Amino acid sequence: MQYKSKNIAILGSTGSIGTQTLEVVRSNPELKVAALAAGSRVDELEAQIREFRPEVAGVWTEEAAKDLRVRIADLNVKVVSGMEGLLEIAAWPRYQVLVTAIVGMIGIRPTIAAIEAGKDIALANKETLVTAGHIIMPLARRQGVSILPVDSEHSAIFQSLNGEPAGRIEKILLTASGGPFRGKTKAQLAAIQPEDALKHPNWSMGRKITVDSSTLVNKGLEVMEAKWLFGVDLDRIQVVVHPQSVIHSAVQFVDGAIIAQLGTPDMKLPIQYALFYPDRRPMGGRRVDFFELGQLTFEEPDPDTFEGLKLAYRAAEQGGSMPTVFNAANEKAVALFLEKKIRYLEIPELIGKAMERHQVIEDPTVEQILETERQTYEYILGKVKDS
Ligand code: NAD
Ligand code: MG
Repeated sequence: MQYKSKNIAILGSTGSIGTQTLEVVRSNPELKVAALAAGSRVDELEAQIREFRPEVAGVWTEEAAKDLRVRIADLNVKVVSGMEGLLEIAAWPRYQVLVTAIVGMIGIRPTIAAIEAGKDIALANKETLVTAGHIIMPLARRQGVSILPVDSEHSAIFQSLNGEPAGRIEKILLTASGGPFRGKTKAQLAAIQPEDALKHPNWSMGRKITVDSSTLVNKGLEVMEAKWLFGVDLDRIQVVVHPQSVIHSAVQFVDGAIIAQLGTPDMKLPIQYALFYPDRRPMGGRRVDFFELGQLTFEEPDPDTFEGLKLAYRAAEQGGSMPTVFNAANEKAVALFLEKKIRYLEIPELIGKAMERHQVIEDPTVEQILETERQTYEYILGKVKDS
């Protein structure tokens, strides 16, 4: 079968989602890469540029950009840097789908710029929806562009919905593996070290999201992400712990039917589905074997041990700028934990404290979101220095 070629751009091309997106490109010759952006790993980016030949490439610092320009002087590739570079890539004329595989709220402005330029978004960067969903979703509707979920749970929900309107959803069943510390008590978590938290039972991902999976903060962010993507109230989003990670999530419809998407844990499927939607394309890889599995099990999440999930629901209920505080406090706390400057249980503790002192701003602008992020970072750093 012949397919039309499709040009994509990737922000965060050297990361876990970025490199898996490039694997999908390798096995689908009709996908072309128009633009790539990475943080600081110039070596890897250079190799990607040589293989995929984009028209433009971005790195974060001007110093890295200078280095990259020298390395690829033999190629006709424009090199840009900083936020300005990310915005230029987002609005680049010759591509259709932007893959947002960058970590954190740095994704907000490029995502908005791409939507304004009429691009579809294959969205992995959940922090953007969590903090600016009230800006992104209406803007996408006005611009007539699609926000295609890459996060595996949201892709599963999207696949289960398959075009049915939000009005037919009774409940979203958002599955969670429970992470490496499922079944543990709070006391048992006190001595957890970064090495322990970086071991995920089923998925291989970037460092920050792996720690977030162990605290269930990731699931909390995903509840907020689902709320924005599918236009469903919080009380209709239920987290279900499912340790085998075979059911990637499900939708319960108004007639009681539950439709789920199952598969082996492999991010390439949701990435490919987002890039070709509404088509479904062939893909290799391991298949789920029901007989080998034997059984699938389910549990309720434990909100006392994993306070991050409880705090996420609270942040989502309060809305406005509170999800930004939740996300920023977590981001900074996780970074401090990975540097061994705070203990594991201080992650939710610090998030709770940052939320308590915050005065909610309703419908925050992008500037107010970024200012709230900055203030929250400062507050967390101050707290840690004082103690
Ligand atoms: P990662 O840390 O592996 O990769 C992040 C990428 O962003 C890297 O390429 C890095 O160079 C780039 N980057 C960082 N700062 C940058 C900057 N200032 N300018 C340009 N590029 C910059 O992260 P990841 O695990 O791939 O996650 C990416 C996003 O996808 C996150 O929002 C995460 O929550 C989400 N997500 C990831 C997975 C997964 O399986 N890894 C699953 C679902 C959702
Ligand atoms: Mg996920």
